[in-house]
Formats: sequence, C-alpha cells, structure tokens
Amino acid sequence: MSLSSPSDSTTDPQQALRELDVILSNAGVGIVFVKQRTLVRCNQRWAEIYGFDSPADAAGISNVEIYENERVAHDFGVRAYPVLAAGQTFRCEQRMRRRNGELFWAHLTGRLIDPEAPGQGSIWIVDDIDDKKAADAALQDLNAEQQAILDHAMVGIVFLRERRVTRCNRAFEQLFGYAPGELSGQLSRVWYLSDDDWLEAGERCYEPLARGESFQAEMLLRRKDGSPLLCEVRSQAIDRRDLSRGTIWITQDITARKQAEEALREAKDQLEMLVAQRTEQLIRTVEALEQKVAEQQAAEAHIQRLALYDGLTGLPNRHLLADRSNQAIEIARRSNEPLAVLFLDLDHFKNINDSLGHRVGDALLTQVATRLRGAVREQDTVARTGGDEFVIVLPLTDIGGAAHLASKLMQLASAPFVMDGQELAVTPSVGIAMFPTDGDDFDTLCKCADAAMYRAKRDGRNVFRFYTSEMQAHTARTLVLENALRRALERGQLSLHYQPQFALLEDGEVALTGAEALLRWQHPELGWVSPAEFIPVAENTSLILPIGEWVLREALTQLRAWRAQGFTELSMAVNLSTVQFRHADLPALVGRVLDEMAMPAQRLELELTEGTAMDDPQAAVAMMNELHARGVRLSIDDFGTGYASLSYLKKFRVNKLKIDQSFVRDLTEDAEDRAIVDAIIRMAQALGLSTLAEGVETRGQLEWLRRLGCEAVQGYLFSRPLPAAAFTAFLQNQVATAP
Ligand code: C2E
Ligand code: MG
Ligand code: MG
Repeated sequence: MSLSSPSDSTTDPQQALRELDVILSNAGVGIVFVKQRTLVRCNQRWAEIYGFDSPADAAGISNVEIYENERVAHDFGVRAYPVLAAGQTFRCEQRMRRRNGELFWAHLTGRLIDPEAPGQGSIWIVDDIDDKKAADAALQDLNAEQQAILDHAMVGIVFLRERRVTRCNRAFEQLFGYAPGELSGQLSRVWYLSDDDWLEAGERCYEPLARGESFQAEMLLRRKDGSPLLCEVRSQAIDRRDLSRGTIWITQDITARKQAEEALREAKDQLEMLVAQRTEQLIRTVEALEQKVAEQQAAEAHIQRLALYDGLTGLPNRHLLADRSNQAIEIARRSNEPLAVLFLDLDHFKNINDSLGHRVGDALLTQVATRLRGAVREQDTVARTGGDEFVIVLPLTDIGGAAHLASKLMQLASAPFVMDGQELAVTPSVGIAMFPTDGDDFDTLCKCADAAMYRAKRDGRNVFRFYTSEMQAHTARTLVLENALRRALERGQLSLHYQPQFALLEDGEVALTGAEALLRWQHPELGWVSPAEFIPVAENTSLILPIGEWVLREALTQLRAWRAQGFTELSMAVNLSTVQFRHADLPALVGRVLDEMAMPAQRLELELTEGTAMDDPQAAVAMMNELHARGVRLSIDDFGTGYASLSYLKKFRVNKLKIDQSFVRDLTEDAEDRAIVDAIIRMAQALGLSTLAEGVETRGQLEWLRRLGCEAVQGYLFSRPLPAAAFTAFLQNQVATAP
C-alpha cells in the first residue's frame, strides 16, 4: 500500500488525517482502536466483518460483545495482555461474534499504541478467516479420510514426487517390509533390484505419465530385506497436466496370483495332456474297434462268399445260382420271355487232374471260369456246381441265342491253355434246356440240361445238344423211378435173383461153383424194373448205399442157408456200384457183415466194373488192397468195355476178369471178337488171373470159349438168374445129375 509521503503529513496534519482516513476505509482488513475495553473507532471493513451498518454504528460498543461470551473475552485478555504489555505484537486466531450472533474465525494482530502508556489503548487488525478455516477443516477431513482409505486399502499406495516418497499407506510399508514412516522422503530406488532397473522403469513409466496417461506393468521389485517381490504396478499423475505435482502408485503383490495362475496353467496343461492322452486312447480304441468290425465284416463277407461262391474260381456256387436262377425265371415268366440254362462239362478233365496234378487242374478250371465269365452279359450267371461242371443261366435268350452262345463258349473253352510252359487243351460238352418249353422251374431245367449234356458226351463229346422230347421221356421216367425207389426197400419190393456160375472142366464138363446175386425190383405199378435202369437212378440219389448194403446182407444170408444145406463149396458174387466202391466205409461194412453171418471171406466175390476201377485208379488200388487184406475176392465186371491199362491191371488186387457179354455174343461169327477174347484170356493168364465169360447163350459160344482157354462161364445156356428157391432146386438137381 502506498501512503502519502511523511513530509506531506507533517507539513499538513489535516492532510495526514485525511490520508489516514482513506487508507483505513479502503484497507482490505478490518482495523479497530480499543480503549478501556470499548471500541473507539473502526474502519469500513471492520464494520462489515462484524455486521455493523457503518463504522459509526460500531463506535462505543463493549469489547465483550464481539467475543463468543464474557469468559472467552476475559481469557483472551489474559492471553494477550502480557504480550502487548511487553510492547510486542500479539497474533492469534480467535472465534468471534458478529452482530447478528453468528460466530466466525478471525485472525487478530494487536499492538498497544504506546507500550509506555497502556491506557491509550490498542489497535487491532482483523482478518475474517472463517472461509479459510472452513476450507482448512475440509481439507483436513479430506486428508484424514484419504489416510483412512489409504490405510485400509488392501493394496500398497505410495505418492512420489521427483521419485521420492511423499506419503504412503501402511499396506505399502508392510508389503516392502518397512516400519511406519520409514519410507517417507526415500527415493523409490530402494524397492528396485538395481540402478539399471530403476532407471529403466523411470524411462518406461514417466513418458506415458507425462502425457497424462496411466501406466501399468508387472515388475520384479525387492523388499527391504532384499527378497524379490513380483508386483503389479499402476500409476497415474496426481495432476494429469502437471507431472511435477507428483504421482500416485498402486502396488499389489501378485506372487500368489502368479503362482495361482501358474498352478492353473499347469493344471490346465495337465488336463489338456490328459485329455489328449484320453483322446489318443479313445482314437486307438475306436481304431481297434473299427478294425475289429472291419475284420468281422471281412470274415462275414468271407463266410458269405464261402456260402455263395466257389472258393476256387470265385464264381457263384450252386446256392447262389439257384437263387439267381429262380429270380430270372420269375421275371421271364412274368414278361413272357425265354431263358436258357446251359450245362457245360469238361471232357476227360479227370485225366488232366490225374496225370498233371491238382494244381494244374485247379489252374485250368480257374482259367476256364475266367473265359466263360468274360463271354457272357451282365445279366447272365456263370456258376461252378461241381468239379468240372459249370452252369450258365441266360435270361432273355431264345434257342438261336443259346446255340450261338454255346458254340462261342465251346470255342473259348477249347482254345489251348498255356500252363507251366505247357499247352493244354480241353473240350467241353454242353447241354441246353429252354424255359418254358423244357421246364418251368430251375430244378427241372437243370435236369434237362444235364440230360442234354450227357447226350452230348455220348455223341462223341465236344458238342452241344439241346434237350429233346426223347430225353424228356427219359427224365420223366427217371423222376418216377427216383420217387418209387425211395420206398422200394422198406416196402419189400427188392429181391435177389441168383445166376449160377460154372467152371469149365478139362474133361469138357462144367461144375457149378457159385452164383452172382442180381438185384430185382418189382413195383406194383411199374412192374419189373431192370437193374440196368434203376441202378443208375439209385446211384444218382445215393439210395445205392442202403440198397447195396441190403444186397450184401441178403446174398450172404442166402449163401449161409445154402452152406447149411451142405453146399459149402459155393461162392457168392455181389455187384458193387461205383458209389459204393468209393465209399471209405466199404471194407469195414463188408467185414462187419461177414462177421455177422460168420461167413468165410474168401467165399465172397465182389464185382466192380472196369469203368469203376479206372475212374480213379489210384484210389481203386488202395480200396482193392484193403478188401484183399480182409480176404475178400475181387473180379472186374464187363471187362473189355473200358480202357483198363495194363500197368494198372498189374496193380489191381483182383482174382478174375469177367469178359463182357458183348464180346461173347458174336464169338462164333466175328473173328475180331474172338481175337479180343483170346487177347483178354492170354493177358489174364499172364497176370495170373482167372477168366469168366458172361452171357453165354449157345453151345458154339461155349466151345469157342473152352478152346480159347476161358476158365468159367455164366449165361442163359445154363440158367437165367433165378429166385432163391428156384436156385436151391437147381442146386439140388445139379447134385442129383452129377456124375
Ligand atoms: P452184370 O453184373 O454184368 O450182370 C450180368 C447181366 O447179364 C445181368 O443182367 C444178367 O441177367 C444178364 N445175363 C446173364 N446171362 C445172360 C445171357 O445169357 N444173355 C443175356 N442177354 N443176358 C444175360 P441184369 O440182371 O439185368 O443186371 C444188369 C446189370 O445190373 C448187371 O450187370 C449189374 O451191372 C447191375 N446189377 C445187377 N444187380 C446189381 C446189384 O445188386 N448191385 C449193383 N451195383 N449192380 C447190379
Ligand atoms: Mg456182375
Ligand atoms: Mg457184366
């Protein structure tokens, strides 16, 4: 405040007083003169502070009125007086009263006008600091609140200025291991691990903080004892616009959190690993299961193939053929279309098997199968139904088409095969049956095609034949016989006739040596059926086995009866069918029946045809050896009609060759037949076999046979086959007429 110069006031006291007045009335503080506890004079501001309308209004009031009460006024005097009396300035903050009774805080500065004469009064400068006081109090409250918050915060909070601690909470001290207040004024360096760390952190954080942004980081810090502490640190400038006012840092120990996170991650990793392992295991299990299923399916498919397909050639077998054929026939029936069934049989396939081995035979069949399959259409079926037998079903095929395909197949099948560098050729015989003319179901068509195929074979092989009405009559008869024969045995329709056999004696006489048992079948409607007709039927249906056994037992029973009557030298010849001869049980059966009858084995002679013996010569040799070992005699029936090779004949354990009646028939007229019979007899003699000529009907034939050296005969000349009783009579008659 600029006052007028002292020189002016001294020169003019009035002027000085005026000046003083201006100063007083314009001063920003209240000024008052007090004399004897009474307000003498005050300026405008003082009046305003204490609530008086004007300074004049306040003049003369008692000092006590501006204090809270009398006691306070008294106390104030007691405090101030000694100071004032010592000539010093008294300063204090004091609660005072306005005129309207309102209390307020004032700052008082007082001094005696003249310390030597205290009665002259004192002068006081008053400042209304109520607002400031209130603000201070509010600030203090705020600070207290803040500290309370800070001290109760679970996180460490520190205030820094110039990187020095201005303030921090208890949690911060505890976090870093300091005593209360210990950190105050310290550089933040103390909780860093190194100078470098500290500097680096400073560079890192102060840049964003200076921009007014917050800073956040994870930091590895140290406690007072030097141990490391992993913290999450968040910081912000207290005044975003002015970094120099300091920063606040919130610090949290995240060691436990990190450990928890780490543990969680480990657990998660472990879980993931376990899941991966389980998944892996599951995949393996699933794979194993899938493989099992695949294997099972493969096995089932294999079983199905075995059930429906031929293992060697992969062609459909008989079951699948029947299935497909029935469907094809059903379709043909509904759509009124023709259909052909072909039977194809390889001629003399057995020879290939026997001479070159089964491996070559199998390879040949496989190649034939491939060729056949390659020659037919999609809708056709080529099946293998037996050793060298194929059946081909051709839907939508008429006679012309069937003939065309038959010749094509024959060409294909008979083209040479190269096997192991060797050229092989087979010829097929084909029989054809047509739907619906020859039959309207699969079984019938098969029988027809089979019959036609046999005709093809009989007609010289390597040809095809259609089924004809003549064959039809034959097959129809076969069916009838088959059905009738099934009951023939149990109904007692079978019987045996016996044809005597004679030895040609040196003296020109003959001697009865035995009988051949010949089967007879008398059916109530069909009458007498020739064994030449029904034996093949019995063979085709396996009925021959029980029938053959019955024949053997019946013949031996009869022989036992004759022996009982004294005809002990008689032998019994029994015919064996090919089927029986191939049956492994035959020797055992024969042995059993002989034992049952208590018959000497050498009295039994089993006849097998040349065809039977040569069908499978090696097996025949083995079977003959077994029968021979049981003491049974063997003869070869119908000798000369087959193709027995000398080499095998030598190995056959037979006792007798029965010269077929076809050579005997024209013996007297036909020199060629005589030559054959002559050759047979010489060969038999060379091999140590006896001979018997069949079908001897005339004395001329007998003479020739005797002359050629034949040892025995059988024929109508001596006797037809006879029922048992007639034969017994014949026997007795023989004895009676014996010389
Ligand atoms: P086979 O074994 O060659 O029997 C001889 C056949 O010639 C018999 O015909 C017989 O009656 C006939 N025969 C005998 N003497 C004369 C004759 O002087 N002139 C003519 N023309 N024929 C004569 P059968 O009894 O009709 O038998 C035919 C074939 O049936 C037999 O031929 C035999 O192969 C077979 N057979 C007969 N009985 C049985 C049997 O019990 N089992 C088997 N598996 N086959 C049998
Ligand atoms: Mg015979
Ligand atoms: Mg014969």
